[in-house]
Amino acid sequence: MSPAPASLPTPTPDPALPARVRVHEVGPRDGLQNERAVVPVEVKAEFIHRLADAGLTTIEATSFVRPDRVPQLADAEDLWPRLADLPGVRLPALVPNARGLDRALALGVREVAVFASVTESFARANLGRSVDASLDMFAPVVTRATDAGVPVRGYLSMCFGDPWEGEVPIPRVVAVARRLLDLGCAELSLGDTIGVATPGRVTALLAALGDAGIGAERLAVHFHDTYGQALANTLAALRYGVTTVDASAGGLGGCPFARSATGNLATEDLLWMLRGLGIETGVDLDRLTAASLWMARHLGRPSPSRTVRASAPEEA
Ligand code: MG
Repeated sequence: MSPAPASLPTPTPDPALPARVRVHEVGPRDGLQNERAVVPVEVKAEFIHRLADAGLTTIEATSFVRPDRVPQLADAEDLWPRLADLPGVRLPALVPNARGLDRALALGVREVAVFASVTESFARANLGRSVDASLDMFAPVVTRATDAGVPVRGYLSMCFGDPWEGEVPIPRVVAVARRLLDLGCAELSLGDTIGVATPGRVTALLAALGDAGIGAERLAVHFHDTYGQALANTLAALRYGVTTVDASAGGLGGCPFARSATGNLATEDLLWMLRGLGIETGVDLDRLTAASLWMARHLGRPSPSRTVRASAPEEA
C-alpha cells in the first residue's frame, strides 16, 4: 500500500510578497494549442466550466487563428456560444491579426490578446515578418479593440532567450514592451517561451522595465518549466510586486511525451506554492486537480504537473 498524498501545505506568509495573486489560466488556449490531440469542442467547453467551477476567474479560452494553421483551435466559433453562461469569468481570446479580431468581435468576445515577439528570428518564424512589421500589424488591431471597449493583453514571447539568437538583451524587451503599451495594450505578459530564464534575470528585467516607467501592476509573467525554473522565476516576480501569473491547468501543453512540448507552468504546481506562502487566489486546488485529471484521461496520458501526479499517484 502506498502512503496517502500529503495534505495541503500550512500557509506561512512572507511579508515581502503580495497577499493575493490573479491566476491567468492559459490551459484551454496555450495548453491545448500545443497538445498533439485535437480535443472535441464539447470536451473543451466542459473543461472550461470545470476550471471556472474550481474558482479560476480569468481563463484564456481560445484563439481566432486560421483553422488550417492551428487545427487544435479551429472550433473557436463553435466553442464561444457554449461559454455564454459564464458571465462572471473573464474569457480572453488570442487574435493574431485584424481578421482574427473581426471574428472575435462578431461573437462578442470582451477581452483579447495579441502575441508579439521580442526577437527577429521568432517574429519571422512565427509571424512571418520583422518585429517592427508585426507591431505595425498589431497597431490597428489594438486600436479597434480598445475603441470597441475590449481591453488588449500584449504577449511578449522570447523575453529571456531565443533558440536562434541565444540570450535576449534586456533593452530589446523593454523597447517592445514600450511599443505595445504605446499601441494601447492594457497589460503585458512576459513570456519565457523556451524556459531558459533564471530568477536573477527575471529581477533584472523587471527592474529595467520599472526604470522605463513600466510598473509591476501592468505586468504578468508567463514562465515555462523546461529547465525546472518556472516556480523559482515566479517567486522572483512576486517579490518584485507582480500579481498576475499565467499558468496552464495540469501543465497542458507541456506534455513530456509530445514533440511540441513547451513546458507551461502547471497551475496546480503554482497553487501549491502560493498556498504555502499564504497567498490568496480564490482557486480550489482539489477541484482544479480533478478537472486536470479529467482532461488527462481525455488526452490519454498522465498530467505533467508534479502536484497533480502527487495528488493522484494511482493515475500517474
Ligand atoms: Mg506558454
